[in-house]
Amino acid sequence: MDSTRIITIDGPAASGKSTLAKKLAQKIGWSFLDTGLLYRALAFAAQRAGLLEKGPEELGRFACQLKIKVLLEKDRNRVFLDGEELTDLLRTPMISRAASQVSAVGQVRSSLRELQKTLGERGNLVTEGRDQGSAIFPKARLKFYLTASPEARAQRRYLELGKDSGPLSAILQSVLERDHQDSTRADDPLVIPAGAVKVDSTDKSLESVFEFMLQKAISVFGVICK
Ligand code: C5P
Repeated sequence: MDSTRIITIDGPAASGKSTLAKKLAQKIGWSFLDTGLLYRALAFAAQRAGLLEKGPEELGRFACQLKIKVLLEKDRNRVFLDGEELTDLLRTPMISRAASQVSAVGQVRSSLRELQKTLGERGNLVTEGRDQGSAIFPKARLKFYLTASPEARAQRRYLELGKDSGPLSAILQSVLERDHQDSTRADDPLVIPAGAVKVDSTDKSLESVFEFMLQKAISVFGVICK
């Protein structure tokens, strides 16, 4: 297997990365990886242990002791922490904020690095996050940087969350905060990876962005669609 047979999709919160990573992977018969889930699992555990208010050293030490496992299933990723499945507990706005907070700690990031690299060793992986093309898989042969205006992203998240979402203005505020936190952290901040194809989906449909990405994948890897 060729570990450069990887497609990375990086970008800010609610830019459509996970939907597109999954759709693309299913179309070409590869696996997909949602790396945000790893940070969310860690944030969940830190919150449960009452460590979110502690400093980076304590959070870092805590992260190093945890055993996170991910199963890459056909239609979803499942995440386990010390054997306990957390998959369905990780999509709340509180965990989104906490994940952004813990992901700024260098030792937290390094505790998850090997796991991600191992998942990419066999290639044929579409992976999405905030550092995939820049720090985790810099040799990936196809990289995307997906973005959209903060207003468009907040609107999409608002529709996705339905009646439990709270006001649109609060979602926009949270998107802007996470953008700031993710792009200004010292370790592996969110950047446009070298060589990445930048896609701004503000005025584009999901289908048209998907079609564009698929055509790129076909031209780079000669993949066959399912
Ligand atoms: O993508 P998702 O919203 O699930 O990610 C949750 C948080 O985890 C992000 O806001 C970001 O702070 C962090 N993250 C990261 N690096 C990744 C994936 C996610 O720092 N590769």
